[in-house]
Amino acid sequence: MNSQFSYLYQLRCSVCQKPYDPNQVQTWCPECNTPLIAEYRLDLLGSRVSKEEIVNRPNGMWRWHELLPVVDPEKIITQGEGDTPVLSMPRLGSHLGFSHLYIKDESLNPTGSFKARGLAAAISKAYELGITRVIIPTAGNAGGAMAAYAARAGMQAAVFMPTDTPEANQLECKITGANVVLVDGLISDAAVRVREKVRLEGWFDVSTFKEPYRLEGKKVMGLELAQQFHWDVPDVIVYPTGGGTGLVGIYKAIRELQALGWMNTNRLPRIVAVQAEGCAPVVRAFEAGQDTCTFFEGAHTMASGLRVPKSFADRMILQTIRETNGTAVSVSDEEIQSAQRIWAVQEGMFVAPEGAATLAGMLKLRDSGWLQPDERVVLLNTATGLKYLDLL
Ligand SMILES: *Cc1c(COP(=O)(O)O)cnc(C)c1O
Ligand SMILES: [Zn+2]
Repeated sequence: MNSQFSYLYQLRCSVCQKPYDPNQVQTWCPECNTPLIAEYRLDLLGSRVSKEEIVNRPNGMWRWHELLPVVDPEKIITQGEGDTPVLSMPRLGSHLGFSHLYIKDESLNPTGSFKARGLAAAISKAYELGITRVIIPTAGNAGGAMAAYAARAGMQAAVFMPTDTPEANQLECKITGANVVLVDGLISDAAVRVREKVRLEGWFDVSTFKEPYRLEGKKVMGLELAQQFHWDVPDVIVYPTGGGTGLVGIYKAIRELQALGWMNTNRLPRIVAVQAEGCAPVVRAFEAGQDTCTFFEGAHTMASGLRVPKSFADRMILQTIRETNGTAVSVSDEEIQSAQRIWAVQEGMFVAPEGAATLAGMLKLRDSGWLQPDERVVLLNTATGLKYLDLL
């Protein structure tokens, strides 16, 4: 029996479990108003494909195509995203008292941020399903990535972003020919404008978790991490959390690999959500023992990717943190800027403010005793600091 390109077989509501057909355009579960999750035939895949086969393919996110949603290889829209390095950081580690500190450096992706992964998957699948016009509300990097992949797919793109979005994000959208609309307010205000345009003109909305496939693209970070840790997991993964796509995705990846029998361990990494003090809905809900988040009023932080007052996937974010024995912690903009400088001085890496937030969060967890100095800790740097020059 020949192997298939993708083993995707259905989508399922994350709350009521109702199945949805992935061969049709899907958004979210209208009954629960919650995200749909992609499910794969892992039993069949495991019997037909080995992890060694995947490891030996040319680099990039799409070498994991059996665990991605695109059915026809011709429909893949890629700019070479994925396979970012995991590097140990001995100087930064010993400076701060950690013996096994790592970065997974997502700044090497096309468009300079890990948003490329999610949008590569979402735009490829949209292209496969015949969609020609895509729209997004964004804090910055998602808009840039959507515009880039939409241009390469020959689609029309519309991007709604707050007026204080970093200049680089505005420019990277405009140069691709995307229709850029600046909105007075937050990403949540941009989302209101997007919904209006979707209703009136029928564009396809690729907002975080409002279509099922950005999650699948970001999931590949977890697949790569497992391989990079030789099919083991680090003790702790620290993730700068806005919409939570990568946090939920990394957990999904590890669960899928364990179900395939490809991991050498059944342990899970403790997954930590770091947010900014000026916008910490997940931290508040986690500390209050709630299952969902409350809209965070008056959200403000220089880490624009973290300026998300309420994620559509709040329930899954909180589940991920709790099921992995993780935690949630908030840091101030001053702590973010100081972490950004320490990281650059010690390792020569100019990380994004969101990436720097993971280091600031790690220091708080060291001081509280939640993290031990000999644990293997991975910090996710989600973008390059070069996209934020107007904030420095
Ligand atoms: C979007 C973004 C985040 C937050 O990512 P989520 O997966 O949506 O939580 C973090 N850092 C940067 C640089 C971003 O652009
Ligand atoms: Zn449902």
